[in-house]
Amino acid sequence: MGLQSTNPATEEVLACFDEFTPAQIEQALAEAAATFPAWRRCTFAERGELMRRAAAYLRVYCHRFARLITLEMGKPIAQAEAEIEKCAWNCDFYAQHAERFLADQPVRTNARSSYVAFEPLGVILAVMPWNFPFWQVFRFAAPTLMAGNTAVLKHASNVPQCALAIEEVFQGAGFPPGAFRTLLVSAGAVEPIIADPRVRAVTLTGSTGAGARIGELAGRYLKKSVLELGGSDPFIVLEDADLQAAAELGVQARFKNTGQSCSAAKRFIVVEAVADEFERRFVQAAAKLQMGDPLLRQTQLGPLARPDLRDQLERQVQTSVAQGARLVLGGRRLDGRGYFFAPTVLSEVTRGIPVWQEETFGPVAALARVSDTDEAIALANASLFGLGASLWTADWKRGQRLARQIEAGSVFVNGVVASDPRLPFGGLKASGHGRELGEFGIREFVNLKTIWIGPSGGQQVPRPSSE
Ligand code: NAP
Repeated sequence: MGLQSTNPATEEVLACFDEFTPAQIEQALAEAAATFPAWRRCTFAERGELMRRAAAYLRVYCHRFARLITLEMGKPIAQAEAEIEKCAWNCDFYAQHAERFLADQPVRTNARSSYVAFEPLGVILAVMPWNFPFWQVFRFAAPTLMAGNTAVLKHASNVPQCALAIEEVFQGAGFPPGAFRTLLVSAGAVEPIIADPRVRAVTLTGSTGAGARIGELAGRYLKKSVLELGGSDPFIVLEDADLQAAAELGVQARFKNTGQSCSAAKRFIVVEAVADEFERRFVQAAAKLQMGDPLLRQTQLGPLARPDLRDQLERQVQTSVAQGARLVLGGRRLDGRGYFFAPTVLSEVTRGIPVWQEETFGPVAALARVSDTDEAIALANASLFGLGASLWTADWKRGQRLARQIEAGSVFVNGVVASDPRLPFGGLKASGHGRELGEFGIREFVNLKTIWIGPSGGQQVPRPSSE
């Protein structure tokens, strides 16, 4: 079976690719494994130089790559360009900081010298989603390569052109050919790759179902794994919040990338005293969003990436309305070509109905009311997921205190949840485990090696009396 690239705005088939044969997969794995010993011996400065060139390459071809994203998965072009720039920033960030993040850490013991060293593992497999087809890959690849690992990518089947373009970035920047290889394969080909002894670890960004499967395989073959999975982030608005800012940024938080973001705000939890006013402003802002041709610069909402995703979203909305949610805006697919779904707001949503209980991956906001802060936090935590959370209050100290009570990988007070190379990103519960980005992200795919050096006669220095 082949991999197909389809423009979701026009339904036109753009390109078809044969899947890699077992021999091609073997060749890529062999190259990645053969490159590792020399690559790990390079200095951070040498690897950093190439990573900076990758950043420059991304910037030079920003528009071409952004257009590819837009054509393959429908992201509005201005957002696609921002995605490419963010990838370049991430490359520069790790080029600059990797050496410091992975510097030996001395530990005082009764040895002459003891410390922790961070050493690369080998070939790392990345299984990636289509929704940020460049960013998801670069946020894994830049730290992983800077740490001295080599990488193979199995990208989502609907973005094969992006997958090949990412390989082009590393080749164009001058990386050794085996440092980063794209494998054009579907999900069914993943198990033998994880099982391969040359592959030392696997990272998956994707749905909770795929995460469970990759986690199971990683367990079976004893491979380290990082799982960045789905989310249903709460967006909590307290009675003292700046309602205009919360409504406008709430719309951004929900509808960016046409709502197809893991850390989009999906469950709006608003304290009763300000619920009517928040809803009014939120709906007003959502109704102004311009949906249309994603290649046009003014477009804010594009199509969904695939027809099955639109069908699924439609089912979630229809069932939720049938179960008592009030439809305030949108709620339907658009006629004509392309997988468009109107920006949708559902109000008076209660626990247990699909748009609250499940992840909604599209332009659908669910609003619920609570009587007070305690109920807001309890409702926020009553979710299978635990990726991000956003909380709005004029009292930042109160925000800080409440942030501690929320079960999530990150909490943004008076801000929209966003990934940032400087800050760790990831989740808990059904949102996965492990972290990407920042200092913690680069330490996921390294061997934390304890090194203990005693005197030549084997005599140990006495333990400090305080221990
Ligand atoms: P997906 O269907 O789970 O696919 C993600 C990747 O996993 C694709 O490469 C897919 O390959 C592969 N895959 C799926 N099932 C597999 C299996 N049984 N065995 C091996 N590989 C498998 O997710 P998606 O639709 O691409 O992306 C949307 C999801 O990703 C959402 O749930 C979103 O929240 C999540 N996400 C999470 C984060 C985060 O940082 N936490 C970031 C972005 C997205 P095929 O395409 O060939 O099926």
